[in-house]
Amino acid sequence: MLSPLDRALLEMSRARAGLAIATDRETREAHAGDESGLPPVVPAAVIAARDADDVAAVLRSASDAGVTVTPRGGGSGKAGGAIPDDDGLALVLTGLDRELEIHAGDRIAVAGAGVVLARVREAARAERLFYGPDPSSLESATIGGNVATNASGPSSLRHGSTARWVRGLEVVTGAGTVLSMPSRVAKSTVGFDLPAIFTGSEGTLGVVTRVFLRLEPEPARLALATVSLSALEAIGPALVAIDRARLAPRAIELLDDEALTTLRAARTDHGLDPRAVAILFVELEGSEAGVDEDLSRLDEAVHALAVDVRLARNESEREALWKIRRDTSLALKRSAAHKLSEDVVVPRSRVGDLVASCRRLGAHHGVRMPSYGHAGDGNLHVNFLWDEPGQRGQVDRAMDALFREVLALGGTLSGEHGLGRAKAAYLPLAHEPARLEAERALKRLFDPAGILNRGKVLPDA
Ligand SMILES: Cc1cc2nc3c(=O)[nH]c(=O)nc-3n(C[C@H](O)[C@H](O)[C@H](O)COP(=O)(O)OP(=O)(O)OC[C@H]3O[C@@H](n4cnc5c(N)ncnc54)[C@H](O)[C@@H]3O)c2cc1C
Repeated sequence: MLSPLDRALLEMSRARAGLAIATDRETREAHAGDESGLPPVVPAAVIAARDADDVAAVLRSASDAGVTVTPRGGGSGKAGGAIPDDDGLALVLTGLDRELEIHAGDRIAVAGAGVVLARVREAARAERLFYGPDPSSLESATIGGNVATNASGPSSLRHGSTARWVRGLEVVTGAGTVLSMPSRVAKSTVGFDLPAIFTGSEGTLGVVTRVFLRLEPEPARLALATVSLSALEAIGPALVAIDRARLAPRAIELLDDEALTTLRAARTDHGLDPRAVAILFVELEGSEAGVDEDLSRLDEAVHALAVDVRLARNESEREALWKIRRDTSLALKRSAAHKLSEDVVVPRSRVGDLVASCRRLGAHHGVRMPSYGHAGDGNLHVNFLWDEPGQRGQVDRAMDALFREVLALGGTLSGEHGLGRAKAAYLPLAHEPARLEAERALKRLFDPAGILNRGKVLPDA
């Protein structure tokens, strides 16, 4: 008698001639992990889909046999979402990368789920259009993975995360039904917004195979200013002052005191003000004249809280400053034997409290906890750095305490990376029972056999 796995593989290869199924050790090991730092798990087989029909055949056969399936884009996820089960399948979507169309007149992009984000942004730029989400993994993450995780980056402060750019989707449900939900229009009030349900569902309800994205005209000018703050206590008031000045920056990024200390020790702070205790990177966009006016309003708004407000004088200075911000993660990683990073989010008015909590929890648990990131969105990458393997218990306790503190501040567990496998156990802390039950009901509706990303996001489904 055939095992469930062999039955599923036989059935799907009968349904789809030429379907690429690999069971060799090397290929399976190459699809075992992601960027979460969680231990990799080698799947039983790896399937490379060519199109939505392949995906449908795989999911139908796997559902029939009760074999789990883990969709995989670029494998750049930070929550363990793309880590498969050892008796399950890794379903690779990067082959769905042939379609990429820009319909400039309608300001719409249509792309296969496997297209890497940087290609989408470049194709839009070639038409002087702009696709907003800018996660720093844009060279490796796929647009399907971005939709699955509702990815975002610095400019989501002004432009929102991926969800705000998704107009329509093609999705294959866990049961293997192709849901075609295209949209080339700017508005629609027809029926339920099903694409929104799949966006951010981390591949637990269906597999995204094709995306329809909104595009915008490129802003005429970008300008970046650094606001060097004299105290951690100035972070919250500076954010409030920017709001009160009626500014709508494209991005407000933070480096806290411990992040700055690490950059300075590594000599990668490249000209940031040595007096700064924390720094905000404020990026503005708009017309030439509008940006000039916003810059002087910014200067006025934060003047009393800052030791210096400095404007990048040209494109290469702007790029150099962004590079410092982008390289912060690497500098932190190099400063300790071990690093874990969380991406908690709090209401914007509580960012200062979050940084203060990190300082307190770090001291209490004996772990370095520098934070940096998207302060304007209240979304900080809180890092845990330690050198001795024996400190891992302290790190886990500090992390647990951080999650509870963030929820008490009115925030939530993840603003970018999702829960995946790493944080699924915490969902019941964040969502009340009735909401959890509605989420489980959606899971049962779209994935009745419970084969898609089992145990991720919803810990018990
Ligand atoms: C250096 C670095 C920087 C990063 N910076 C950011 C950042 O600034 N902002 C941010 O939001 N994230 C960031 N990330 C995290 C990661 O890049 C994003 O989560 C990204 O959206 C994942 O895309 P991917 O194609 O690599 O997906 P994968 O890692 O392959 O998968 C991620 C999850 O999505 C599911 N999935 C993938 N493709 C599909 C599909 N087609 N249909 C259904 N489910 C699918 C997987 O099962 C998994 O649960 C960063 C990661 C790294 C390594």
